[in-house]
Amino acid sequence: MKEKIQNQFKKQFGTDGVLYASSGRINLIGEHTDYNGGFVFPGAIDKYIMAEINVNGTDKVRVYSLDMDAYCEFGLKEEDAPQEQWARYIFGVCRETIKRGGTVKGFDTVFAGNVPLGAGLSSSAALESCFAFALNDMFNENKIDKFELAKIGQSTEHNYCGVNCGIMDQFASVFGKKDCLMRLDCRSLEHEYFPFHPEGYKLVLLNSKVKHELVDSPYNKRRESCERVAAILGMDTLRDATYTMLADVRDKVSDEDYRRARFVIGEKQRVLDVCDALERGDYETVGRCMYETHDGLSRDYEVSCEELDYLNDVARECGVTGSRIMGGGFGGCTINLVKEDRYDNFIATAKEKFNAKYGHEPEVINVIISDGARKVID
Ligand code: ADP
Ligand code: MG
Repeated sequence: MKEKIQNQFKKQFGTDGVLYASSGRINLIGEHTDYNGGFVFPGAIDKYIMAEINVNGTDKVRVYSLDMDAYCEFGLKEEDAPQEQWARYIFGVCRETIKRGGTVKGFDTVFAGNVPLGAGLSSSAALESCFAFALNDMFNENKIDKFELAKIGQSTEHNYCGVNCGIMDQFASVFGKKDCLMRLDCRSLEHEYFPFHPEGYKLVLLNSKVKHELVDSPYNKRRESCERVAAILGMDTLRDATYTMLADVRDKVSDEDYRRARFVIGEKQRVLDVCDALERGDYETVGRCMYETHDGLSRDYEVSCEELDYLNDVARECGVTGSRIMGGGFGGCTINLVKEDRYDNFIATAKEKFNAKYGHEPEVINVIISDGARKVID
């Protein structure tokens, strides 16, 4: 990819620039916890967006997207927003940097990536973080702190791309470190690194390639359930709720709300348990927690779907160490922690069985926990 970018840059602009990259992400555990003031546990992966960048002495940004095979230019003023969706991510990052008092001058860039689009690995956060990091390095002497870089990406999604996302994806892309997962406390925004280098295991995503669009927004309904239970407990969020507290208000909440809250309380504890297990290098416990999360998401939180439950069943049958839905649910990927000697059989079985039942194979995406935003040194 690097050479393709460099060749295209030379062809397009006749000069050389500096290379930057930032990564997509996985979330090992901690689902639907962000809006409940809980923990998420993401890591950056070995799939990234890379961009070559050079100042051009004008007030314009000139961009070539290798993957879209398309060119676009825009000015740095508010009214100059480009039409092309892919270019709006870059425009947004420029605008949000300027809004925060940062400097952005005209530049030329060629970029490309290998984060699968729309598979739940956050290619958009990789794109934003790559440019946020680059503009900080090129024009701002790296004075903008890393958390602010993540917020620049998040605000880009909110203000220029119509996606009302949380901070996890951009946080993971900016802060990602090789062989480390990061526990982000969604209440205090404090974070901590934990070692993740599962020797003898592989981490693999199976993309079901289905997405069930439901009529009434299930996401908002889940949020409302959690808010109702928190209110009955006299709390802002379910962060500090316990099973005992929930049992005490059992007759004051609907059965549905009860199960939603039960999942959230369990999920918070599971993230903490996984962190403890990783400090001992105990990947079997990590795997068990992943299955528990899947069951909770499927039965209590009810955000799974037939196809994802099926992939989870196949994982169990094949002796996979841990498997669960990754992301908000109703489609997308499962994330699987698999012993190397079981990997080939698992992938073959999952492909064959899923294809027989649903008429297409799941997409197999192997991931390794890697560095996030960075300058690429030759
Ligand atoms: P994801 O879950 O992967 O973040 P999104 O829909 O949020 O999915 O973001 C995907 C969008 O990001 C694409 O439609 C495109 O505009 C932009 N994008 C991601 N990767 C690339 C790339 N390699 N080249 C150009 N644009 C990209
Ligand atoms: Mg996205």
